[in-house]
Amino acid sequence: THFGFRDVPVGDKQKLVGQVFTSVARSYDLMNDLMSFGVHRLWKRHFVAISGVRRGDRVLDLAGGTGDIAALLKPVVGADGEVVVGDINAAMLGVGRDRLTDRGLVSGLRWAQLNAEALPFPDNSFDAVTMAFGLRNVTDKDKALADICRVLKPGGRLLVLEFSRVQNELFNKLYDFHSFKVLPKLGRLFAGDADSYQYLAESIRKHPDQQTLKGMMERAGFGKVEVRNLTNGVVAIHRAYKL
Ligand code: SAM
Repeated sequence: THFGFRDVPVGDKQKLVGQVFTSVARSYDLMNDLMSFGVHRLWKRHFVAISGVRRGDRVLDLAGGTGDIAALLKPVVGADGEVVVGDINAAMLGVGRDRLTDRGLVSGLRWAQLNAEALPFPDNSFDAVTMAFGLRNVTDKDKALADICRVLKPGGRLLVLEFSRVQNELFNKLYDFHSFKVLPKLGRLFAGDADSYQYLAESIRKHPDQQTLKGMMERAGFGKVEVRNLTNGVVAIHRAYKL
């Protein structure tokens, strides 16, 4: 395709993120189920259900990884629509491509190795951009948000599903315990890699909360930003429009 794999410039955080996802690619899907007790599947379904994506739409699934969101989007856009899975990591894309091929879902899907901070698409290219559990890993989030805005058509929508701030104190304590005590152990046991899962827990805590991310989107040029918490704010969905 004309969105072929290519070299992308990398900084330090990007290098770390690259190592993390290359290291977890093969165990990624299993780990998601274990870490979230399978709930990530419900979050992703809900995310696509409220995305407003329609038949015939051209959608970029950014940080698309192993293709969970793309697999849910493809039946929605149908044969005359298109889903581009964009991710910086070749190992994640490789696992996704194999998995979706096995499920017979490849036709009409494109795979592109790219950096969310510098998208290789012309202005006004997409009806929607989806990003699930990806923004947190991007070094320069403001730059990524501005470039997403650029490639969206006017009136097009950005949907971000990301870990956010838990709203209830008691729940927050349990969640911390799960993240910092249980999660690295699960990582060591099932993926042979405690460090990567420690990174994930830390990156979740550092990520901007609901209102901060909303403000960032507005500064990047988006309007009508709506936020919806799922599971008490463990994750949140931000929906925003290019004005
Ligand atoms: N969207 C998938 C899902 O929900 O299962 C994958 C999410 S995974 C936690 C995060 C993905 O973000 C990884 O595949 C990683 O390679 C990708 N990523 C990290 N930094 C990126 C960047 N700057 N540009 C594009 N993708 C990036």
